[in-house]
Amino acid sequence: MSGTKPPSNEEEEYFARIEREQREKLRERIEADAAAEEARRLKELHWMRCAKCGGVMETHQFRGVAIEQCPSCGGVYLDAGELQTLAGEERGGMVGAFAEFFGVKRFRRVGEKEGEGK
Ligand SMILES: [Zn+2]
Repeated sequence: MSGTKPPSNEEEEYFARIEREQREKLRERIEADAAAEEARRLKELHWMRCAKCGGVMETHQFRGVAIEQCPSCGGVYLDAGELQTLAGEERGGMVGAFAEFFGVKRFRRVGEKEGEGK
């Protein structure tokens, strides 16, 4: 073709890079969609089901907190924050100790006081 210049190496590299970036973005979007779909499917499959036996959980009100219990195996489930709500400001009792055990990000070593260590 007269009047048109053949593409230079720089142009070919530029378009190849653009195409690679578009393919990468498409692949990332497909993976994100698949992960979201899998999360939705698992939530639907497991919603209000016992983690141990698969029984259908029943909701009970205890001290203003909705607690799920499995009628098949007796397992109990608390949503995030519900254990802390039940424990309130209690620190010395069993519920407070339980809440502290699950509430702290870093487990203290035996004998280590709060605020010590890294
Ligand atoms: Zn169960």
